[in-house]
Amino acid sequence: MAKSETLHDAFIDELRDTYDAEKQIIKALPKMVKAASSPGLKAAFTAHLEETRGQVGRLEQVFASLDEKVRGKHCDGVAGILEEGKAIMEEDFDESTMDACLIAGAQRVEHYEMAAYGTLVAWARAMGHSDAARLLEATLNEEKAADGKLSKLAEGGINQDAADMAHPSEEPDHNAPAAKKKAQKPAKKATRRR
Ligand code: ZN
Ligand code: FE
Ligand code: FE
Repeated sequence: MAKSETLHDAFIDELRDTYDAEKQIIKALPKMVKAASSPGLKAAFTAHLEETRGQVGRLEQVFASLDEKVRGKHCDGVAGILEEGKAIMEEDFDESTMDACLIAGAQRVEHYEMAAYGTLVAWARAMGHSDAARLLEATLNEEKAADGKLSKLAEGGINQDAADMAHPSEEPDHNAPAAKKKAQKPAKKATRRR
């Protein structure tokens, strides 16, 4: 009977999956740059595209450190997330809403990658593959930083701009604290009982 496969085999398999995922992301990011309107978001996607090319190079170093041939294996997970992203880009959203939705899709990718690299780092460490662990951790940190940057962009204006498009008649209370106070005071009094 054939010998059981080990964690090392699973590790190589995950590396191939992740290698393919990064390649898919490299193809998708330029379309996201084009679809984005916010200059900050365009810049973030462009920067992460460059970073992702470096991540592919790092994975190649990981394969080399393990005496493995560089090989990818289709990543269905990222393919699915990117498929959803493609559907978003085909929608007729206003600019801020498109940006907010692009961030939502991109953060799904980053979280998927954080899960993948988190596992790869832990497995590499457990098996004593310290060079691989170091390289994979560098990428894990880049994915976390990319995710954080996207949150900052979303919460730093893009979500609010999109929300203002959705509810144009309402007081943009982030710009008008005085108006907000006025509107709320009578409501408070009304609920108070003597
Ligand atoms: Zn191993
Ligand atoms: Fe990546
Ligand atoms: Fe990423």
